Amino acid sequence: MTTGDTWTNWSGNVVCAPRQTLAPPDEAGVVAAVRAAAADQTGVRAVGTGHSFVPLCATGDTLLTCDRLQGLVQTDPARQQATIRAGTKLHALGAPLHEAGLALANMGDIDRQSLAGAISTGTHGTGPTLGSIATAVVGLRLVLASGETLDCSATQHPEIFRIARVALGTLGIITRITMQLLPAYRLHERTWVAPFEGCLAELAARIAAHRHFEFFWDPVEDACAMKSLDPATATQRVAGDPAAPAPGQLSRYLNPERIDWSYRIFPSARDRRFNEMEFAVPAEHGPDCLRELRDLMRRKHPAVTWPIEYRTQRADDIPLSPAFGRETVTISLHQDSSLPYRAFFADAEAIFRNHRGRPHWGKIHGHTARELADIYPQWAQFQEVRQALDPAGIFLNPYLRELLLA
Ligand SMILES: Cc1cc2nc3c(=O)[nH]c(=O)nc-3n(C[C@H](O)[C@H](O)[C@H](O)COP(=O)(O)OP(=O)(O)OC[C@H]3O[C@@H](n4cnc5c(N)ncnc54)[C@H](O)[C@@H]3O)c2cc1C
Repeated sequence: MTTGDTWTNWSGNVVCAPRQTLAPPDEAGVVAAVRAAAADQTGVRAVGTGHSFVPLCATGDTLLTCDRLQGLVQTDPARQQATIRAGTKLHALGAPLHEAGLALANMGDIDRQSLAGAISTGTHGTGPTLGSIATAVVGLRLVLASGETLDCSATQHPEIFRIARVALGTLGIITRITMQLLPAYRLHERTWVAPFEGCLAELAARIAAHRHFEFFWDPVEDACAMKSLDPATATQRVAGDPAAPAPGQLSRYLNPERIDWSYRIFPSARDRRFNEMEFAVPAEHGPDCLRELRDLMRRKHPAVTWPIEYRTQRADDIPLSPAFGRETVTISLHQDSSLPYRAFFADAEAIFRNHRGRPHWGKIHGHTARELADIYPQWAQFQEVRQALDPAGIFLNPYLRELLLA
């Protein structure tokens, strides 16, 4: 959000004062902005909707908002693909894709992000057979530091493509993205409450049984709000049972049973502002890691009443993806945006470290470049491509220089 001379992210924990904020109406405008920054040797950071909890977009130079790069460029029903302008908000994508008979294979908890912002940090939903949104990218166009545009895909500049799908805006400004989609589909949503031990006892079976399964463990009730989503047919009907009463704040995560088109089922509303830490751990570490975090909260941080979210993701081949090369469980911690979080998150990060967790790029963590190099097997390949495409570092800011290069 831009107010006067300052820009603030969604949770309010990142504030910066850009020298200028540009909102180019088209790709030519992006090229002009990048050429000007390169000529001045100043920085330029792209921003989607500012839903990251870390200073990825913060800059004292040029903040380039992609808000005017909206909408579908074209759809290809035969291939089930669509080319989409990079700034398109996910919530503005569902209906036009649906009209073309298409839908995203998976989505996260909300649909407020821009498409480019979502892929650039590895934003994901849940499902053991499903990758992050970036894994569905089959091509994208970058405006490079040189001011040239570059189209990349599995057959055009494949080494750049592999990396550019999750690259934190460090290779260039993405202007359009081609996505592999599915034929439009319906989902059947069910939510219910289970005690913590009961949830863990049936966890593996639940994950295997549903296309999407996730839960929130609530520290106040020591119980879990469970959610499954499965494909539904046009004639399928819900049982129509009223939502079961849930204790305390767990009710926030429960919905009446329902069937609807996927893009209407996936997103939830997140009205209360919070800060968040999330790590991707090897799937087999998920239950132990969760138990240790639960113990930590009960023993040392009982004042934190926000839940832990537990989701799954399949292994992928994107060098900076937190799910690179391994079946994954993601575990997220939250704290109200008006309350302190640093001590709690630092203690939790020590647990994630022991499980060789990889931090979500858009969420709070304290990992150093040295640690990241250790947990990302293709860290060096990313660095080589980034350095070759942007030798002067115009797409870096102080946070990224420290995170990636220190
Ligand atoms: C309420 C809430 C719920 C969330 N739920 C989930 C969830 O379910 N799953 C999950 O994985 N994450 C989740 N997140 C995290 C969020 O999805 C990511 O931080 C995402 O990157 C934010 O998208 P954005 O459009 O706001 O991008 P921004 O935060 O604005 O930017 C993110 C990155 O993308 C880059 N970028 C943006 N546009 C471009 C472009 N055109 N070209 C190149 N780089 C670009 C930016 O420079 C930056 O590095 C959630 C966050 C919030 C606040």
